[in-house]
Amino acid sequence: MRKPILAGNWKMNLTYHQAEAMVEELLSLGKAPESVESILLPNFLCIPLLADKLKGTGYQVGAQNMSSEDQGAFTGEISWDMLKDLGVSYCIIGHSERRTLYLENNSQIEKKLRKAVKTGIKPILCVGESLEKRQAGEAKKRIEGQVHRALVGLDREDLQDLVIAYEPLWAIGSGQAASPEDAEDMCLTIRQWIEKGYGSDLAEKIRILYGGSVKPDNIASFMEKENIDGALVGGASLKAKDFYALIEGV
Ligand code: PGA
Repeated sequence: MRKPILAGNWKMNLTYHQAEAMVEELLSLGKAPESVESILLPNFLCIPLLADKLKGTGYQVGAQNMSSEDQGAFTGEISWDMLKDLGVSYCIIGHSERRTLYLENNSQIEKKLRKAVKTGIKPILCVGESLEKRQAGEAKKRIEGQVHRALVGLDREDLQDLVIAYEPLWAIGSGQAASPEDAEDMCLTIRQWIEKGYGSDLAEKIRILYGGSVKPDNIASFMEKENIDGALVGGASLKAKDFYALIEGV
């Protein structure tokens, strides 16, 4: 019922020319399967390139971050209409690297999410607990708190295109993915929280992804789970062959 998503977050990797070579190789491997939403999220400088090369191929282009402001004196920022102008459909909001390395807080994430939903950019809201929180038995409380804070003031209509990615901090880039059972448990917790606040229609509709050391050889074990609707992938999305294998594994 829910169309799965495979999203490749390139982070601060691949120059323009490397991105060009990757995308050309990806397109030579075959068509984007229609059964999956396949999204590449490059750095801002590569968005026009990917938007151009991927037009009409079935692949979509996303952004890794956006400003909560519309325009003006915000040095170094990129606005929603700059993204939309290039055909960007999705944007990651609140990735843990933005939260921990750039001190993005819940209130900034809430503003960005609101700007995205109000302007028609589909948000991929990232939430995830640290190892300390997990070991203290507070993982669910942490995740519910992050979702709650990000969605403040938004109603069911605003959230129709919301995607949430559960990404435990200790699993990102570590090679130590969460177990499919733990990931499913957390994704179910998020879906139940949405159901309580916004009703079962929305809870059944929104896609919840797992992210953190997903690779071609473990993606199937996550996709078997009822409440996991796809993956947000970092490292393994950089090589065309791996990215294509991930899509095939969805
Ligand atoms: P990873 O990153 O796949 O390299 O662990 C996931 C992410 O940060 O989205």
